Amino acid sequence: MSATDRRVALVTGGSRGIGRHVVTRLARDGYDVAFCYQSNKEAADEVAEEAAAAGARVYTARTDVTVHEAVRAFVRDGERELGPLHTVVSCAGIVRDNPLVMLPEADWDSVVRVNLDGTYNLCKAAVFAMMKRRTGSVITMSSIAGVHGNATQTNYSATKAGIIGFTRALAKEVGRYGIRANAVAPGFVETDMLSGLSDDHVRKMTDRIPLGRFGRPEEVADLVAFLASDRASYITGQVLGIDGGLVV
Ligand code: NAD
Repeated sequence: MSATDRRVALVTGGSRGIGRHVVTRLARDGYDVAFCYQSNKEAADEVAEEAAAAGARVYTARTDVTVHEAVRAFVRDGERELGPLHTVVSCAGIVRDNPLVMLPEADWDSVVRVNLDGTYNLCKAAVFAMMKRRTGSVITMSSIAGVHGNATQTNYSATKAGIIGFTRALAKEVGRYGIRANAVAPGFVETDMLSGLSDDHVRKMTDRIPLGRFGRPEEVADLVAFLASDRASYITGQVLGIDGGLVV
């Protein structure tokens, strides 16, 4: 693929976990990729190297997705470096688990700020220019917690449900401009996000999954890459579960 044929994707939370695999997968699929990271420059450099080795031009920036102006600057600079965006993937997210009666206000606020405000900040910064170009794909990261709710995750579940409503509304707003918007709703995926789960909890959860294992971040990245691509050209406003059958 020549440099002029390459599409440009922008990903938040790209230095690790699912986001990391989204960046490298899109790079292998022929995208140039801008991604932001929160603090770990070393990890981000590693991901950038891997994406560059796959032939992508890469732009990285340390960006806190909760800061509206910072996200605007990331999108602006990413486009300046790599060209107009075709795909945006809102991947950054956090958990702060506790039963509601023990949930500190700060842990409610931070989860809302990162998961929900972060999604708004990214889409607000990116979508207007995409509308003018009349093409593009927006992919947000929900969760089975947003569809079904998880005990000890009222904060997280609320944001992931909010992301579903946000994405569906956005799909209705921008479809006529040739832009698709879809949410991905993973079940349990082997990333640092789950590092707090006890072995006992992991065993119990695994027993409930028809495919008998947690998902791999590469598998979620494959779904994101599909939704970004023209192979998904008639899919919009959807919430695509990827959970090994957990919620069947
Ligand atoms: P992870 O903890 O490995 O990665 C989260 C990423 O978000 C990290 O790169 C982190 O730096 C970034 N991030 C957090 N706060 C940020 C901020 N303020 N600004 C910028 N970046 C920030 O977790 P993951 O499993 O890769 O999660 C990726 C997405 O997938 C999240 O939205 C998460 O809610 C969602 N998800 C994960 C699972 C799972 O089981 N792992 C399940 C469902 C949904």
